[in-house]
Amino acid sequence: IQTSPFFQCGPTAEADSLAILHLRRDLLIPAVLRSQDDLNEGYDEGKVTNTRFGSFPHSTLIGTPWGSQVRASAVDTGSRGRKGWEGKGKKGQKRKRDGQGQEEIGAEKKAKTEDLNREENNRSAEIAEQDTGVGPKAAVEAASGFVHLLPPTPEIWTASLPHRTQVVYTPDYSYILHRLRARPGTVLIEAGAGSGSFTHAAARAVYSGTPSAEKVGSESTGLPSKGHGKVYSFEFHEQRAQKLKEELSEHGLDGLVELTYRDVCQDGFLPSSTPPSSITANAIFLDLPAPWLALKHLTRSHPSSPLDSTTSIHLCTFSPCIEQVQRTINTLRQLGWLEIEMVEIAAKRIEVRRERVGLQEEGLRGVNDSPASVDEALTRLREVEGRSKVFHEESALDEKGEEITGSPATGEAQVSKQQRLENIKNALEGRKLYKEGRLLHKPEPELKTHTSYLVFAILPREWAEEDEITAQQQWPAKV
Ligand code: SAM
Repeated sequence: IQTSPFFQCGPTAEADSLAILHLRRDLLIPAVLRSQDDLNEGYDEGKVTNTRFGSFPHSTLIGTPWGSQVRASAVDTGSRGRKGWEGKGKKGQKRKRDGQGQEEIGAEKKAKTEDLNREENNRSAEIAEQDTGVGPKAAVEAASGFVHLLPPTPEIWTASLPHRTQVVYTPDYSYILHRLRARPGTVLIEAGAGSGSFTHAAARAVYSGTPSAEKVGSESTGLPSKGHGKVYSFEFHEQRAQKLKEELSEHGLDGLVELTYRDVCQDGFLPSSTPPSSITANAIFLDLPAPWLALKHLTRSHPSSPLDSTTSIHLCTFSPCIEQVQRTINTLRQLGWLEIEMVEIAAKRIEVRRERVGLQEEGLRGVNDSPASVDEALTRLREVEGRSKVFHEESALDEKGEEITGSPATGEAQVSKQQRLENIKNALEGRKLYKEGRLLHKPEPELKTHTSYLVFAILPREWAEEDEITAQQQWPAKV
């Protein structure tokens, strides 16, 4: 298995690897970082990701520690194409090349580059437009801010992936994988793959790349370690299968996930690899419109059964309608599945925060939220102070820190401001801010996950002749 940023992300973001730009809790943009951009020859800022918070040349992201706050850079994404940037990032100073390369670009090549640029700009503009609701160019130019640079995880990927279908969200797949007993070494079958949200979570669950993971697989369960886990994924929509294949490859998950373009209801679950490998799966997840049609391929007696004959098999189907559930359960019963159970996950996010408390008595004008710490209170105060800088430049504060509107800021006023900060710090130091304000719980009004009914079932391990002999020896029949 090649390295994947989902498992080995290292301390910094790497070129040609997936990174997530975190704009807000609910706004994340995935980007494979490229140090070269064919669309932007002559400059070496690499590709540029445009967001409502500004433009982020990949050169400012590559080599940057995960979790860093990265400031937007000035990049012209206007109709003439990007011109390179004179950003303030740590590598910004050496961005612009000597321009010689530019002159060498022939007319034909230039025209092609411009075409591609236009296409790229439209895409960038789409992102910007979607987010801001203002015109594309204005959005890119007006916005400037920062993002946080995050390494990918299945959860973050689910929150940021390009949707080609409905997807399984984290609250559902975490429960499903737990019930399927997916662990390092598990061989898991999944159909249909759709947008690959579940696929990524399943890949992480079965990954047994580290020695400690292998240990968990064998020692804690008492079962023999199955070696490397694997996800066999199936999708019958050609474009979706192709796109997901590309993504899995970009994410370094090629060896861990084998995606097959296949109608599983019709053709079953043997993957397309040649020579056909025989799968010995012990977990199955079906996110299909008619899972009951696929179940006939998941019996132990099937000539090309993909099931591990030495373990019990755990299955989950994911269906939005109760009628689908009924048909699935009928078929499961007929085929000898046991412990059939239906579950619905109703995940609701609950915001927990403290009620606003007045801190005016301490001189914290404009800082009403209950801060978590003295540092936070001071940071907020500085923000408030910063916002009113313009106003303060036209006014001054008297000795008590009161504003005298209309007169220019004096050195004395600056001292007074410093003093005021000191006073506030002293006043806050003795207070237990974590105790202040009533704790509020606010559930979000709607369920945001795509909820479905989850049907779980177990196919017991096959009773073999050796089992019968062992049983006879251990518990001889009393005559
Ligand atoms: N679980 C996916 C995820 O988390 O991103 C979403 C799956 S999507 C709701 C269902 C997928 O099943 C679709 O992409 C569809 O093309 C595929 N599908 C439907 N019937 C299928 C079949 N018989 N064989 C293979 N794939 C099928």
